[in-house]
Amino acid sequence: MCEFCLKHGEGKKWYLEAKNYSDDLLSDIRRRRFIEYFLSDTEDLKEKAGQLDKLDNAPRFLRRIMSRLISARMKRLHYGQVLPIEDVERIFAMVGSVVRIACICRHVTLGQEKRYCYAVTLKPDGGRFHEIIRGLDQSFLTGPDAPEAEKLSKDEALAALRDHEREGLCHTVWTFGTPFIAGICNCDRADCLAMRCTVTHAVPVMFRAEYVGAVDPDACTGCRQCMRLCQFGAITYSAANRKADIDPRRCYGCGICRSVCPANAIRLEPRASVPVAAKLW
Ligand code: SF4
Ligand code: SF4
Repeated sequence: MCEFCLKHGEGKKWYLEAKNYSDDLLSDIRRRRFIEYFLSDTEDLKEKAGQLDKLDNAPRFLRRIMSRLISARMKRLHYGQVLPIEDVERIFAMVGSVVRIACICRHVTLGQEKRYCYAVTLKPDGGRFHEIIRGLDQSFLTGPDAPEAEKLSKDEALAALRDHEREGLCHTVWTFGTPFIAGICNCDRADCLAMRCTVTHAVPVMFRAEYVGAVDPDACTGCRQCMRLCQFGAITYSAANRKADIDPRRCYGCGICRSVCPANAIRLEPRASVPVAAKLW
């Protein structure tokens, strides 16, 4: 179990606890202000991304201190966790509304509208979270062609998320003023600031999934399709055996490699059952 499961999930998966999606959490004015600020000030996010690039050239001790400070702050404000499609389905079974919006990261890194983010709320009408969004300048969230955020059925949203997997995007769930959860994003290492921050700059702003991938060597045909998709460089290939293998110490447990495996040779195991990965978050 990750730290958030212990703190916000009473020892179960924190993102499957309905209380963490509750409108009651939005009675907290600081949380509301953070959401308003985060979804309005894309220039600030751009500046912070530039600062992270500069941090790479700082002395190692300073990088370590800054990494701890940034990570601790983000755990309070806006932290994520990788999760496989099965857990997205469990979240969708619990919530009342799914709305697709543009990704703030891609707005900053690519200057493009990419609809990779899904706001989720318990209430079918979107509740207080949608009230907050409606009060903002939504131009980047909805894009130039769509005046309103796009409400999807859960089946439509799941189909879109499966398409994102085949594009190589990994699902992540996010807090806005922890433990309040407002959305599921679809990340990649090139354009997603959180993944860049965590994987490229070694400043963690998201946990690995509660799972780890494993290849069944008897089923693997050695086609290497899975290697193309893994964002974390966790899959290796043995030319001698003509088999792929997953390093559990590098695997984030997203499960997207399964979506392209023609032999159905990859499974997810609970992280806690894999000793070398059990304490890696
Ligand atoms: S090997 Fe692990 S991290 Fe890489 S795609 Fe598969 S499950 Fe995700
Ligand atoms: S995609 Fe499946 S069959 Fe192909 S190398 Fe990976 S695990 Fe093996």
